[in-house]
Amino acid sequence: MSDVTSRVRGNLAAIQPYQPGLSDETLRRELGNRRIIKLNSNENALGPSPLALEAIRRELPRLHLYPDGASDLVREAVARHHGISPEQVLVGNGSDDIIKLISETFLEPGDEIVVPNPSFSQYGFGAQVMDARVRPVPLKPDFTYDVDAMAMAVTTRTKILYLCTPNNPTGTVLKRREFEELLSRIPEDVFVVVDMAYDNYAVDEERLQLRPEDLRRGNVGFLFTFSKLYGLAGLRVGYLLANADVIQYIHRVREPFNVNRIAQIGAVAALSDVDHVRRSQALASEARFQYARLAEHGLRVVPSEANFCLVEVGDGAAVFQALMRRAILVRTGFRGLESYVRITFGTQEENELCIAALLEVVAGAN
Ligand SMILES: *Cc1c(COP(=O)(O)O)cnc(C)c1O
Repeated sequence: MSDVTSRVRGNLAAIQPYQPGLSDETLRRELGNRRIIKLNSNENALGPSPLALEAIRRELPRLHLYPDGASDLVREAVARHHGISPEQVLVGNGSDDIIKLISETFLEPGDEIVVPNPSFSQYGFGAQVMDARVRPVPLKPDFTYDVDAMAMAVTTRTKILYLCTPNNPTGTVLKRREFEELLSRIPEDVFVVVDMAYDNYAVDEERLQLRPEDLRRGNVGFLFTFSKLYGLAGLRVGYLLANADVIQYIHRVREPFNVNRIAQIGAVAALSDVDHVRRSQALASEARFQYARLAEHGLRVVPSEANFCLVEVGDGAAVFQALMRRAILVRTGFRGLESYVRITFGTQEENELCIAALLEVVAGAN
């Protein structure tokens, strides 16, 4: 047998495959037919946008046709939504796809990216695939951004700097003022990618929010997804907003039909589903109050602007296991956050059950 594995690119040896939260299917296998409370992947507890479901059903008979490779309808709808132009929009098979496309567009072996830590693991993954180096910059002890440290981490080799606000897994935000300061302190040829996957859950008025004029700068991009608030994680649609010149280059590495037909149709419908959006936001703001009550029991809850919160529980892995035995799924195992679990906001009832179970578990029950 000839051994082709000896000829695999060297940088792949260091890559750890992504560890997703346990899937619905795995859980069913492990826990049988018990009701599972799935609070481990920041999915929308209300389910998909009903308007998206309806549009998808109508589209199914056309599945034999290739999708629009340019995702024109999505780009137009997104452009209208943000008050920008369609040339400033690139649509991807989830934001994960776009992070990889950005990496392929900019990174050569030996280049560097700067990422906050802890944050979303896909930024580092995109760099590793391209044999670029990742420079993680710790957040401050209260999990807000250390702008000074981020600016100092940028070198002449830095091509991309990622920001995530609200940040996953901490739920903390970057302020507009901090963003401006950071941009003023780094070279203009560093591409600053701001991941706003959870921005439509956030309420802090001082946080960085997209303004159409931001895209006039050639070196910033804003990443959004349909996976969270819109409830379409299984469909895979995300988009990048940036200067049209940058977008043109990223198109060169994109697969010709990277976003499927029902995903495009579903995304456009979800964007217009104002009722589903409002209900999802209201549920999340209520959940913030529900989980804040854990503080009365001596547990640290990191104030969150997203649809999840970090709770300090002592031994995160043990609490994870104990909750799992109660068919409640949360997330643990973030490096440096061994004493925390991340809990996605569920329905009111799911949150009550989770809070009660968590208090039982940390009080010493198994
Ligand atoms: C969930 C999430 C995304 C969305 O990824 P998709 O590939 O669009 O599902 C992007 N960024 C962060 C920080 C996330 O937590």
